[in-house]
Amino acid sequence: MGAGESGIGTAFLAKKQGWTVFVSDYSKIHDKFKPALEELDVEWEEGTHTMERILSADVVVKSPGIPSTAPSIVALKEKGISVISEIEFAARYSNAKTICITGSNGKTTTTLMIHHILKKAGLNVGLAGNIGESYAKQVAREDYDWYVLELSSFQLDDMYDFKADIAVLLNITPDHLDRYEYSMEKYADSKFRIVQNQTKNDWFIYNYDDPMIQQGIKKRNITGQQAPFSLTEKMKVGGYVDNKQQITINIKDQFTMSIHDLALKGKHNLQNSLASGIASRILEIRKEAVRESLSDFVNVEHRLEFVAKVHGIEFINDSKATNVNSTWFALESMEHPTVWIVGGVDKGNDYSELTALVRDKVKAIICLGKNNEKIIEAFQNEVETIVEASNALEAVAYGYRLASKDETVLLSPACASFDLFENYEHRGNEFKKAVRSL
Ligand code: ADP
Repeated sequence: MGAGESGIGTAFLAKKQGWTVFVSDYSKIHDKFKPALEELDVEWEEGTHTMERILSADVVVKSPGIPSTAPSIVALKEKGISVISEIEFAARYSNAKTICITGSNGKTTTTLMIHHILKKAGLNVGLAGNIGESYAKQVAREDYDWYVLELSSFQLDDMYDFKADIAVLLNITPDHLDRYEYSMEKYADSKFRIVQNQTKNDWFIYNYDDPMIQQGIKKRNITGQQAPFSLTEKMKVGGYVDNKQQITINIKDQFTMSIHDLALKGKHNLQNSLASGIASRILEIRKEAVRESLSDFVNVEHRLEFVAKVHGIEFINDSKATNVNSTWFALESMEHPTVWIVGGVDKGNDYSELTALVRDKVKAIICLGKNNEKIIEAFQNEVETIVEASNALEAVAYGYRLASKDETVLLSPACASFDLFENYEHRGNEFKKAVRSL
């Protein structure tokens, strides 16, 4: 159910494994997937779910975009039909080992970073999950020894027998709560599925400084070997930052590296680098190779991405910051007075968490959303200037006017983008286009 990247990949793998496949999408199937459906030569439908047919399935692989409360899913569960995610399905047909990354923020960055280190070290390693080509399709067509998998809570929700050889839990902060009955507890339970089925030969890498994770660990019987990382406390097994100068990783023996040599800056990226370094050292990647990869890693766009300097004003695109926590880290890493572009579709944000940073670092706010009331109310007593823009061009023009030489204009919206843009990539690209036309 759901003919996107994961659904089409599932169809490829299922067909290869001899299943009779039926693809059903309640919306219109994107044109880019139509040729694959033809190539597959399976039955499919769009714009509807023929329930009679679906309810006769042995197993249903559901796209992470379909909530468990959708009537079709409720009906399947009532009938006792197994509903699983593409990752769960594909893993049944793969002997490769997995490193699985989840968290509210930093998944993509950390997944790419670990993949970069392993690949450069010469391992036969694939990259999948919430990123790039589906895991199922790669299981059908490739022959990797290792996979680095980015897993969202929606994928984890439909995973039961899957086991991660190395599980990474970066943080648990509010996001997507609409899918978890507005309960942080339920959202955390979903994230903790990353450790299910682990044995004492497996590893659990996690953020020691995260209170929700600490709480979750106390509640559970964690079986895997634990390798926490911390920005403040020394870890006997795991990783930490020493005197704000170097990262230290204690896995088997000790690995150290100056934080000034890390490719990605900001506290959040220290956490991502620590998690990646730990995973690599568990695999016994040579220290020199880990050091080199952590220093030459290039992240994908829209994550604290430097765009340009125009008359001494620096423009940064952090369009992927779609919740308060990711924006917190963006503001925290600002080293110059900042004009902050914020707003969009609010997912129940609590802006008070940003007050101290805004007071300290932000000289003006540009709201970029249809409804900006909450933002204006939260910060009107903290900054002198708050303006509203209704497109990226206008926002950048305001930014250019409000910032002076040696200052920064930061797009870090803390909100989803679909009131004014198609998605966060569109928002980031429009921003970059506007900056480049200054
Ligand atoms: P995800 O895949 O979990 O959405 P990304 O790596 O795409 O994570 O980053 C999303 C946003 O979160 C970006 O704005 C990025 O700068 C920020 N970010 C990255 N890593 C972290 C982290 N460890 N903690 C908090 N925010 C982070």
